[in-house]
Amino acid sequence: MTTNLIDQFNRTINYIRISVTDRCDFRCIYCMAEKMTFLPRDEVLTLEEICRLANIFSTMGVTKVRITGGEPLVRKNIDSLFQNLSKNKNIKELTLTTNGSQLIHKAAMLKESGVKRINISLDSLNPTTFKKMTRTGNLNDVMNGINHALDVGFEKIKLNIVLMRDINDSEIFDLTNYAIDHGLDISFIEEMPLGLTDYERKITSISNDEVIKNLNTRFSLEKINYKTGGPAKYWSIQNTQTKIGLISPHSHNFCGDCNRVRISCKGELYLCLGQETKIELMPLLRLFPNDDGPIKEAITNSMKIKPQSHEFDLNKKNPAVVRFMSHTGG
Ligand code: SAM
Ligand code: SF4
Repeated sequence: MTTNLIDQFNRTINYIRISVTDRCDFRCIYCMAEKMTFLPRDEVLTLEEICRLANIFSTMGVTKVRITGGEPLVRKNIDSLFQNLSKNKNIKELTLTTNGSQLIHKAAMLKESGVKRINISLDSLNPTTFKKMTRTGNLNDVMNGINHALDVGFEKIKLNIVLMRDINDSEIFDLTNYAIDHGLDISFIEEMPLGLTDYERKITSISNDEVIKNLNTRFSLEKINYKTGGPAKYWSIQNTQTKIGLISPHSHNFCGDCNRVRISCKGELYLCLGQETKIELMPLLRLFPNDDGPIKEAITNSMKIKPQSHEFDLNKKNPAVVRFMSHTGG
């Protein structure tokens, strides 16, 4: 029986994002510290527990599942998770956010597992800037991964870009042209104050109002009513297949339409990306291996504490939440 999840502000939750690992082969400057200590393996949900949780949510009205991280494709045996989730017919959309480094090995498996749309993060087309932003990433691997994903043929590939002032903002047109040339969508994400960084986010952050103003000087854009279930607002570019998405937590708060919750790799159910409000699901999963009832009850009750909105404020010295995006899952 389906018991729809409706929160205290009457928002229906039909979308979960699951972080399958806190580990990553990159150390993007806005997402991680240079030196990271990752969780011991027994503090991370097993792939079976992740699958069980997704299946439980799917009996509660969730139809869209995004696998994220950390870098989901570096998790050992990740193939089995996609293969198992693809068997769940209640999950209408199984998607992935990846840094692209492993796509050369994993794209075919993802397609075979029924993944139709993937988001690939690509902050720069310049190897030096790419290295500066990802610290340990290799642009060539990502470009090969994108080309391979294009050959495999997904329904939609979207690029995710975090624009940072005086670092990669001069590439806004090159990145958009790259997306147009390859028939990809492209989203610009405003940098969010998640985790402590060694620079001031206020200095690097760029409002998406500025982004769209810039793009309008070169491209013929039209605002469209396109929805993917996520927070992006979309523009089409005349005479191209490419849509531009803007994810603007600062300049255009999107919380009123929030339809999602996040599960961290530790099994914490975060009710909002930008708040600490959470419940712990790992103890319940381990205490009740054969009874989903208590877990469903906890999830249903969590709807009463889902916050109305994030409280991101770039003017504050300390970040809104101290955990990095890689912990909660972007
Ligand atoms: N490793 C994968 C990747 O990079 O696509 C998936 C996880 S990553 C946390 C998901 C998305 O979050 C990426 O597009 C990344 O650029 C974005 N992200 C990470 N930290 C962010 C921050 N502080 N503000 C805005 N976006 C951020
Ligand atoms: Fe890794 Fe993605 Fe975070 Fe970059 S944004 S450090 S690729 S998890």
